[in-house]
Amino acid sequence: MQVVIVTSEVAPYSKTGGLADVAGALPKALAEIGAKVSVFSPFYPSVKKIKNTQNQPKLKIKNLPIKVGERIKEAKVFYKRESLIDFYFIANQEFFDRQFLYGTEKGDYPDNAQRFAFFSRAVLESIIQLDIISDIIHCHDWQSGLIPLYLKTNFGQNQSFNQTKTVFTIHNLGYQGLFSRETFYDIGVPEKYFSLQGLEFYGKVNFLKAGLIFADKLTTVSPTYAKEIQTKQFGFGLEGVLSTRQKDLSGILNGIDYSIWNPAKDEFIESSYDVHNLSNKPEIKKRLCTELGLNLTNGSPLIGFVGRLALQKGVELIIEAIKSVINNAGFVILGTGEEKYHQLLSELKSQFSKNISVNLAFNDLLAHRIYAGSDIFLMPSQYEPCGLGQMIAFKYGTIPIGFKTGGLADTIVDYSLDSEKGNGFLFDNYNVNSFVTKLNEAIQFYQQKDKWQNLVKRVMGLDFSWQTSAQKYLKLYAELLKS
Ligand code: ADP
Repeated sequence: MQVVIVTSEVAPYSKTGGLADVAGALPKALAEIGAKVSVFSPFYPSVKKIKNTQNQPKLKIKNLPIKVGERIKEAKVFYKRESLIDFYFIANQEFFDRQFLYGTEKGDYPDNAQRFAFFSRAVLESIIQLDIISDIIHCHDWQSGLIPLYLKTNFGQNQSFNQTKTVFTIHNLGYQGLFSRETFYDIGVPEKYFSLQGLEFYGKVNFLKAGLIFADKLTTVSPTYAKEIQTKQFGFGLEGVLSTRQKDLSGILNGIDYSIWNPAKDEFIESSYDVHNLSNKPEIKKRLCTELGLNLTNGSPLIGFVGRLALQKGVELIIEAIKSVINNAGFVILGTGEEKYHQLLSELKSQFSKNISVNLAFNDLLAHRIYAGSDIFLMPSQYEPCGLGQMIAFKYGTIPIGFKTGGLADTIVDYSLDSEKGNGFLFDNYNVNSFVTKLNEAIQFYQQKDKWQNLVKRVMGLDFSWQTSAQKYLKLYAELLKS
């Protein structure tokens, strides 16, 4: 089985969030169970900055002309092989040689439609040029949503894609790639596709919708989210489209790459620990507090948050909750995102400087140290397609608190409701009061040292590795090829 994964970010080469983790780990897991996997992603400046200088991507195609509307843009294709995977990076200076992937804190880049239409076409042209066999093309999120449409239109007659089937995975329905009507002409598909059965969405062009309508199978990243997105509350206006594709839509939970996220061999945390010997975890907490200038009262928990600073992630709830419990805990926040949250968090920091550390950056090293050094991890997301933070936290013996939604509901079992299987804390009314009540419950439980220690050991033993999920994807691909 030959699988082509198309993604706008892939760890360790580029990352803004969970998609990069998934795109980095899923191909490896698929290759381990026998698939032949290629990954296509843009060539951002960060691709060159990874540590392994021995194996930099090499130029494979010097000049691939790509149509963007009436214009012809040039793509270069770079190739490298790593961990059984063929990586192809699509380069174009104008589109991808930028500091950020999709935009700055002031907003998205204004030419994102052209950038990712270009990328999608360049992927398909490269597959043709390089004679890559693609039984399955697996696209992720709006940035590659046009590919299933191109395969039904402009590229539909090309022999290279005779046998090709497409899978489209939704990592977050809140990000749809919505652009003005004019951008439709840069996509270059026939006019009839600007319609209800095509890309049109309230007068605009919607890249995600192209994936939802034209892919052969749809998946999303947890079983609960697969159900939620068919409802008005979580559907972002696409619930109708999704309901019509119900029989082709399934939820497959993401996994965690334990070669990256593992306190027993994590180079970022300086001293290691595992479920059999936890003695270094308090040391790591202490060192982290010193590094960040936190002065915690003896015996208080350190509570961490790592994530995008967006409404979805519950930042407003976090800010209010911190004010309520600040005397009983220390906090470390790491994130970037909307400017208003940068401001509110900076104000909170100046108000409670001894008990809270606010880090408005994207910082992989600090993220690892927060997962390891914290006692409790916050995920009060309004909605959460899967969420990786809670699963990473488990591995580091850090107990998550989450809202009962999407992947959080599928992975966290509330301790106070089920002390046998409980692995964290879940609140199920989305408001500050419920969140604070749960947070206080966790903080109090933390004081029962023996019970807490047992809980820590239990969560560290949980297995959210990719094996099971990769098998499910492989099964889905196989069913598609038979159909
Ligand atoms: P989402 O994809 O919605 O952003 P996920 O929980 O699925 O959220 O994945 C987030 C990933 O990005 C995790 O690996 C998390 O550690 C990482 N991450 C998020 N924000 C930061 C940051 N500011 N610095 C470092 N890593 C971050």
